Amino acid sequence: MAKDDTKLVHTGRKPQENYGVVNPPLYRASTILHPTLESWEARKDGGNVHKVGHRHVVYGLMGTPTQFSLMDALSVLENGHETILVPSGMAACGICFLALAEPGAHFLVPDNNYLPVRNLANGHLKRIGCETTFYKPGVTEAEMAALIRPETKMVWTESPGSLTFEMPDLRAIVSAAKSKGVLTGIDNTYGAGYYLKPLDLGIDFSAHALTKYPCGGSDTMLGSVTVNTQEHADLLFDTYLAMGYSVSPDDAYTVQRGLRSMPARLRQHYESGMKVAEWLKEQPGVLRVLHPAMPHDPGHEIWKRDFTGANGLFAIMVDAPDRARLKDMVENLELFGIGASWGGFESLVTTAYPENIRTAEPWEEEGVLLRLHVGLEDPDDLIADLRAGLDRLAGS
Ligand SMILES: *Cc1c(COP(=O)(O)O)cnc(C)c1O
Repeated sequence: MAKDDTKLVHTGRKPQENYGVVNPPLYRASTILHPTLESWEARKDGGNVHKVGHRHVVYGLMGTPTQFSLMDALSVLENGHETILVPSGMAACGICFLALAEPGAHFLVPDNNYLPVRNLANGHLKRIGCETTFYKPGVTEAEMAALIRPETKMVWTESPGSLTFEMPDLRAIVSAAKSKGVLTGIDNTYGAGYYLKPLDLGIDFSAHALTKYPCGGSDTMLGSVTVNTQEHADLLFDTYLAMGYSVSPDDAYTVQRGLRSMPARLRQHYESGMKVAEWLKEQPGVLRVLHPAMPHDPGHEIWKRDFTGANGLFAIMVDAPDRARLKDMVENLELFGIGASWGGFESLVTTAYPENIRTAEPWEEEGVLLRLHVGLEDPDDLIADLRAGLDRLAGS
């Protein structure tokens, strides 16, 4: 079996079926024409024409060979059975909940989860009669088993957690869920399908913001969920159709192209990120570096067990009692833009205040959290930029 880098270059591409063109063609479509009345009337079963592998081209909403090629590549990358595409990473997380939601349903969500999922749980899901318990990031197997109720539909996870980069013990969580017959899902955006293989750990839904590293260009919104069984694929696709989600073939095309070079980009983000993080760790104004790939991090042992690498995203706690100096530091960085998202080629910085969000376990770390995305710039230039920024923060 080929290694991931090889698979990512070759899967989902069939040049000889397309005049030798290297990339899969971009098919834009709403209407798909049928040659006969019989084909039209059998369209619910895919009709009897336009078959691509095990899929059918039926209507633009259900995808064309452009989306299919990305779905195949992601399924291969995650050792999964099938992948569905959705319009964003948030939609990828959301569809896992929506597919299982019903009055009385219960979900378990980590306290350090990507914030919009918390908002989904506390908003729309609550409105339709679902209840969510937020659990502490370091939950043990016994604690998780005790939180699971007869009406629990799914335990949601994220590794590492957003903003604070705490590492959950995924194996303990999955084991507790399995012993109670409960489904598990993960926001696998950080691992990008490359550094972490959730389906191999027994997780049922692996959701991604393809917007991030798979795209790599900060110019496309897209999400995916990879699953291990046709039953779960049907469950999600049913919700996809009910919601009328649709994924632009242009966006699917852009992401499949990004995916080809993702391993090489990820390695550079990881290496540069570590260099910047190690430098930051020694700076007096930096109280702590939150980065599970660094040996001092409390999540390091779990990270080493579950992950084969890291990326360019991490956070630092900075000593910033003076808001004006913090503003001066951040706004005058030359190479780090202030903005949401990450995984593109450029460096980013944002503030975040987990102390105002968490309910299961307070965030009591001293200082202000700055999340950094280390892009593909030369890390020495990034360090020089941050050095000047930390000087401004210190008022020196
Ligand atoms: C960005 C992000 C998402 C959402 O992705 P979008 O494509 O921006 O909707 C979900 N989870 C995590 C961890 C993210 O960082």
